[in-house]
Amino acid sequence: MMAVFAPALRMPWSLLLRPLHLLYWLLAALALAAPCAAQPSAGPSARVLDVADHAADRLSLTPWFDVLEDRSGGLTFEEVAAPEFAARFQPSGNAGEALNFGITPSAWWLRLRLANTGAHTTERLLEVAYARLSHVAFHAPLPGGGYRSVDTGTTAPFESRGYENRNFVFPVQLPAGTEQTLYLRVQSTTAFIVPARLWEPAAFRAHERSDYAAQAWYFGMAAAMVLFNLLLFLSLRDRLYLQYVAFSVSMAFALAAQNGLVKEVFRLESPLWSDLCTTFGYSFALASSMLFLRGMLGTAQRLPRLDPWLRGFIAFFAVSPLLFLVSGQLLIRPAAVLYLLAMVCLMAVAVHSAWQRQRSAYFFLAAFTLLGLGAAANALRAIGLLPTTVLSANAMQFGSALEMLLLALALADRIHQMRREKAAMQADLLAAQTALIEALRSTEQNLQERVAERTLALENANRKLQAQSRTDGLTGIANRRRFDEVLASEWARSQRSGEPLALAMLDIDWFKAYNDQYGHLAGDDCLRSVAGVLAECAVRSTDLVARYGGEEFAIVSPGSTAEQMQALALSVQRALAELALTHPTAPSGHVTLCAGVAATVAGPGGTPEQLVATADQALYHAKATGRNRVVLAKYMVGNGL
Ligand code: GH3
Ligand code: MG
Ligand code: MG
Repeated sequence: MMAVFAPALRMPWSLLLRPLHLLYWLLAALALAAPCAAQPSAGPSARVLDVADHAADRLSLTPWFDVLEDRSGGLTFEEVAAPEFAARFQPSGNAGEALNFGITPSAWWLRLRLANTGAHTTERLLEVAYARLSHVAFHAPLPGGGYRSVDTGTTAPFESRGYENRNFVFPVQLPAGTEQTLYLRVQSTTAFIVPARLWEPAAFRAHERSDYAAQAWYFGMAAAMVLFNLLLFLSLRDRLYLQYVAFSVSMAFALAAQNGLVKEVFRLESPLWSDLCTTFGYSFALASSMLFLRGMLGTAQRLPRLDPWLRGFIAFFAVSPLLFLVSGQLLIRPAAVLYLLAMVCLMAVAVHSAWQRQRSAYFFLAAFTLLGLGAAANALRAIGLLPTTVLSANAMQFGSALEMLLLALALADRIHQMRREKAAMQADLLAAQTALIEALRSTEQNLQERVAERTLALENANRKLQAQSRTDGLTGIANRRRFDEVLASEWARSQRSGEPLALAMLDIDWFKAYNDQYGHLAGDDCLRSVAGVLAECAVRSTDLVARYGGEEFAIVSPGSTAEQMQALALSVQRALAELALTHPTAPSGHVTLCAGVAATVAGPGGTPEQLVATADQALYHAKATGRNRVVLAKYMVGNGL
């Protein structure tokens, strides 16, 4: 992309023609502010360029041109070359690398006087190093008189050029001791410059090689970036990669069109397409770069007020090539304003997002800045502030290549960022999960502890209930239920072991009378006293003392013989006597009792009830034969003793 500015022949509108000219414009202002840099040189005093004096490999022709504006564009070569027109040509007054024409419907005639005072015929190549000229006509005198003309330009077929190059190159032959006047007629639909140079042929060919190598280097790199990101898109299905690809393709296409390579490689025939393809490329590049910027910086969420502008611009630039196709040059000026606005909007979004410390925005800013620097270097070279080197001549490509790399880096950084965010999220999740598990664990532990406490309390209560259910409430000794259980289990044990099992049934004498005499409460006390005596006397740990019912008691003594049990009953009788509880109506004057004793070794034929019945019979016998007696059962039970 070449600069179109100072010393401008046209109004600054021309500066706005292409989107990336904003920076050019600013730099132009700078350049104008530095008079020493921008002042045209005095120029050659004689307006004839003697190639024998100027043997340099390359010579800028800008100072040597005389120029003539043809506003209608209708002048013919014959008219212009006629002597009456000669005086209307003006010196270019420009010492820079290029003549600058801006947007103009005029055709411009450039006249160049060449002389060769040397002794040999000299070959030279006249290069116009700006590929976007719609029309270029070259007229050189023939040795035998008359002129040969090359009529070419982007709108003409590529073959019309004569010399095949992406720019316009015209061979010139200068026989020794001759002078000749050459004419160039240039005209273009978009803003244009004419960087014309005279080359020594071998030097030009060397330049041509390095120039094409630089182009190949750039487009090779762009192709690699495009393919790589296309593959990334295909595998990751993230449309940001596709937007990047669209941007890179558009940018590379715009530069290829700008540099004349689209025309050369594709041999475009359509004049309209040839003329507008660069504009198309830049439109698409701007639309896709805004699309990419929107996606990367999430402007829809983060900058909801600016985002509709971006969308509007994207829509406009996506369809603007159609408008250009229909309107041709008409819309170029208004579109230029929109290009400028879009650039400002793009930069504003990038700066704002960078201000908000969005990482991707740093990459965008750096990328745009590098592209801008490339454009600026190109511009500075065109006004002669930078020397023409491979670097400055291809500054735009370098800027664009670095921009592509930086934006690809932004994509890579985004993945890195996403991975870090994911890892942080996973760590948070893990911490939350661990906390939850910990909470659950402690809750469970609490629950377990409470369950254990409750279970223990229940077991205690159960044990208490069980004990209560087997204890006689009045006397505190075992009750009838407990007696039945123990008798049954001891019966079974006796059956297994063959050991004897002894039972005593005891009944208080004249108890009804006692009750009648002292009342039931005193009767209860008496019952408690008798129970205490029984418990005291039955000292073996295996003995069980129980209240059988009413004023009847029982003693179960596993392993005891009938005699041993009899002895125990007698000891009870004695102990009660010693207690000497007063009983006024009893013959003895004291509370006494009767006992019936029986014992057996439990056998398969007998039952515990039979043992009870036997002891009861003995008790009955004791009552019947007086009171205060212990009677041993006379009859065997089962195979008992
Ligand atoms: P025997 O010498 O023939 O055994 O005569 P007894 O009066 O002792 O026997 P009887 O069966 O005629 O009377 C038993 C009495 O025991 C009747 C009842 O009032 C009394 N009795 C039963 N259970 C209780 C009790 O829990 N408390 C009190 N105070 N008296 C009871
Ligand atoms: Mg009784
Ligand atoms: Mg009684």
